Amino acid sequence: MLKILDKEFVPYISAEDIQSRIKEMGAKISTSYKGTKPLLISVLNGSFIFTADLIRTIDTPIEVTFIRVASYEALKTTGKVREILGLTENVFGRDILILEDIVDTGTTLQHLSEAFQDLGTKSIKVATLLHKPDAQEKASKPDFVGFEIPNKFVIGFGLDYEGMGRELKEIYQLA
Ligand code: 5GP
Repeated sequence: MLKILDKEFVPYISAEDIQSRIKEMGAKISTSYKGTKPLLISVLNGSFIFTADLIRTIDTPIEVTFIRVASYEALKTTGKVREILGLTENVFGRDILILEDIVDTGTTLQHLSEAFQDLGTKSIKVATLLHKPDAQEKASKPDFVGFEIPNKFVIGFGLDYEGMGRELKEIYQLA
């Protein structure tokens, strides 16, 4: 049991399970993108640890960059999505793989996909460590999924609660 502020969390996915699943995802991504040099776009803040571990399991040439969008406040989605911040690369004609820590309602994903389509990308796919299918409101579905999880708040491995818990090696679920 782990207490952060007013909330209690219990261990949910072990560090070992996360790492072995990431390896499998990396192998699939490597096969899919052989010979294409995709641009991996990691959505900060939550995805930084997933990104760091995933890219080291990929054995085909890639580029990596980081952007920021915010659509989340504490425990529930606000439905508001801000602009893409920090994209410096030219994405025209590129194969893009968006890296997300978690896809919840899919609002962030839908917004990003539309924004990148407008910028003339050649293809857009999405890899997410966690997917909450119960909460999916939007049509867009991630192409590479680490774990399907129930619609319960999780922290750890990059994901935070009120700014805390990102450093945890395993994923914890709200008790
Ligand atoms: P969506 O736009 O798909 O509803 O939400 C995506 C974003 O919401 C994620 O990138 C993440 O920042 C946040 N989010 C969704 N579910 C959770 C959760 O269970 N825990 C944490 N820490 N963040 C979440």
